[in-house]
Amino acid sequence: MANSNAASPFAIWHGMERKNIDWHPTVDESKCTGCGLCVVTCGEKRNVFGYDLEKSKSVVMFPENCMVGCNNCGVACLWNAISFPDMSYLKEMVEKIPAGQIQKEFQKKITDNPALIAAPSNASFPKP
Ligand code: SF4
Ligand code: SF4
Repeated sequence: MANSNAASPFAIWHGMERKNIDWHPTVDESKCTGCGLCVVTCGEKRNVFGYDLEKSKSVVMFPENCMVGCNNCGVACLWNAISFPDMSYLKEMVEKIPAGQIQKEFQKKITDNPALIAAPSNASFPKP
């Protein structure tokens, strides 16, 4: 299912197109008790889950909003009704991140948020 929001803030993941990354929860209806915990666990900005009021089951509505690598809802679901791709797939994706991309994002984040610098010094940023 595609993201309904063409201008999604989640369209790019570390320099890669999010739509080409197959990371999102899958709900096993036979195990889902309909408690709604996954719906409230997923952040308000991402809102990956909707809810089928007729079936009383959660539904993955916006898979491309899912944060690549997150599995919080899967951990939260006490009925093991939520699954994700194997972690080896995630590793494959991480290995495809363009060279220097993480260092660029990291430097920007630290520079924009000086409160995150635990021990100010004259040392430079680590090399990738
Ligand atoms: S947390 Fe699990 S059991 Fe509860 S609604 Fe979500 S998938 Fe279903
Ligand atoms: S893995 Fe994280 S971001 Fe993805 S649907 Fe679950 S809680 Fe939301």
